[in-house]
Amino acid sequence: MRAIFALPVGDAELARSQLDAFSKQIPRLYLILSFNAIALAVTHARTAPLYLTLYVPLLLCGLCTVRAIFWRRLRVDALSAEEAVDRLRTTMYLVAVLGLTFTVWSLSLYPYGGAFAKCHVAFYMSITVISCILCLMHLRGAALLLTAIVVTPFTIFFLITGNMVLIAMVLNLILVTGGLIGIMLRNYDDFAGLVRSRRVLIDRQQQMQALSDENLRLAYSDSLTGLPNRRSFLTRLDKTILAARRDSTRFAVALLDLDGFKSVNDVYGHAAGDDLLVIVGRRLESAVSPNIFLARLGGDEFGVILTGFSSNAEVMTLGRDILALLRAPCILKDKAVAVAGSIGVAIYPEVGQTAEDLFERADYALYFGKQTQKGQVIIFSESHAETVRLNGRIEQALRRADFEAEMDLVYQPIVDSITNRIIGFEALARWHNPEIGLVSPHVFLPLAERRQLIGQITETLLRKALRAAQPWPPHFTLSFNLSTRDLINPGTMTAVREMVIESGIEPDRVEFEITETAAIEDFAEAFVGISQLRALGARITLDDFGAGFSSLGHLLRLKLDKIKIDGRFVRDIDRSDAASSIIRSVVNLCRDLDIACVVEGVETEEQRVMLEELGCRLMQGYLFSRPIPASAIAALMASDAEMGVTLAALAAR
Ligand code: C2E
Ligand code: CA
Ligand code: CA
Repeated sequence: MRAIFALPVGDAELARSQLDAFSKQIPRLYLILSFNAIALAVTHARTAPLYLTLYVPLLLCGLCTVRAIFWRRLRVDALSAEEAVDRLRTTMYLVAVLGLTFTVWSLSLYPYGGAFAKCHVAFYMSITVISCILCLMHLRGAALLLTAIVVTPFTIFFLITGNMVLIAMVLNLILVTGGLIGIMLRNYDDFAGLVRSRRVLIDRQQQMQALSDENLRLAYSDSLTGLPNRRSFLTRLDKTILAARRDSTRFAVALLDLDGFKSVNDVYGHAAGDDLLVIVGRRLESAVSPNIFLARLGGDEFGVILTGFSSNAEVMTLGRDILALLRAPCILKDKAVAVAGSIGVAIYPEVGQTAEDLFERADYALYFGKQTQKGQVIIFSESHAETVRLNGRIEQALRRADFEAEMDLVYQPIVDSITNRIIGFEALARWHNPEIGLVSPHVFLPLAERRQLIGQITETLLRKALRAAQPWPPHFTLSFNLSTRDLINPGTMTAVREMVIESGIEPDRVEFEITETAAIEDFAEAFVGISQLRALGARITLDDFGAGFSSLGHLLRLKLDKIKIDGRFVRDIDRSDAASSIIRSVVNLCRDLDIACVVEGVETEEQRVMLEELGCRLMQGYLFSRPIPASAIAALMASDAEMGVTLAALAAR
């Protein structure tokens, strides 16, 4: 019984659902109550006193109207749990009070009417209590209370009359209300169950929603830095394009790539590399504003979408500010590591209208920047577009080229500046295309590398170079350039070794020139390739030394035979003390380590003198000779009986 009368304290949802279901029935209940009361008052109007047929019913109907209006206005969802329970409690009290009042009033009319009117009282009470039970269904305590309050006096009162018709009506009413109560109790359980299961359903739905929100967040963010990821970037880019198209505005796509990240990874390990990316991510994030969207695209590449700028100069400034943020040293495992970055920018709509175009052009600008001016912001321009178009043509031609017929080599002597004698030649690739003409290796080699054509080209060229070197005197060396791709391609490396063996030239006369980027970026693979060449007896020269940022200790693990100092130091030698002191230290280092040393790009007599003073002996450059065809070397040797080609002979040519 207590459970039946208990209010759902602590179960806000059930209380609110009860009130909600209930508030819809209540006005109807008051309407029925009032109409029935008026009908009963009317049938007794002539016989009963005025206070019973007019004032009391008027008062009761007024009360009912006030309550009906109150319920109509009640906003159940605005109620707190306690307020809802309070409402239910008030309803219980009111049900008791009103139930009792109406019962007393209707029974007090009984003595005044005739037989029909007496029956009307009994009928009114029974029919009204039944409709009230139905209306109060969702508050079973109230329904039961009302039943007890009405049916008990009704039963006693009419049993006492001893009238068989009325006693039969009592039995009818008890039976009907009993049955109704039974149905109501079961319905109520179903109702409460429904509320509960709806709640479970909602809970589960909320959990699912939270889960899928989290999934979505993960799918669109980078797990290492917490920044938006590539997918998020592309989605944002698409949206930005749509908005810019609609509003006719400009925006910029910028790609940022770290310089020197690979060597941090190699030297300090991947965990340190990850730490570095997190630090960089945080620094970049500090630049984010409503106009700047930042994402990590993968590896050490970040993407920025920039809106709301007024000029390209503003984009440049912002890019430089971002790069400046990166330049502060990062502390990794107690070590300060310097990082820098380069930025490539493409601006909508000038250089691209689709996401692919913008991305590709920004990437090109970045690539171009890394090749020419590391650490800068490069905005893709019309001249870049021209280069891209030309490269497209060159690439087409390269794909169709007959390497055997079109690829050739020229040879530049390497000179011992003390004896003035040539010690060997470096083979340099030339491509003569019937349609495009002569193409520089600076242009076609990177394309060939990107299109996986480099292996074939290397094999063709090396075969030609070894053939050309066959008639050379035995003290001449042949220097041959290998690309990064060659070094890490086992197929090419096997072919290279076989060609050297088959050529019959002593392997120790063949020097392979590799660049530090080749050696460092894929250190493990490059190491294997280099070791195999050394095992054959061939020599390894580190080309363009000083052009990159690699750690020397790392490079020395490669067991080099020779270091070639990059031409840029020679170019600066008379202008910069730094250039000459770097040359001096490299020369000394090579002497200590018993490694040979060459300087390339020597163009003037002054440079040669200064280089000699710095301790350089082996040199290469236009001062001695431009690269010459193989036939010219043969002619040279034919004119020199001793086969010891001198510089004088070269100069006389
Ligand atoms: P590199 O190996 O550093 O070659 C030296 C470049 O400097 C050559 O340009 C040469 O002609 C040029 N040079 C020589 N002396 C001087 C000088 O006194 N002043 C100036 N300003 N330049 C001088 P080239 O022949 O255009 O080759 C460019 C680059 O292409 C080479 O740089 C090398 O990295 C690459 N390369 C050339 N041939 C091959 C090859 O057969 N295979 C591979 N993988 N790369 C090659
Ligand atoms: Ca070289
Ligand atoms: Ca070089």
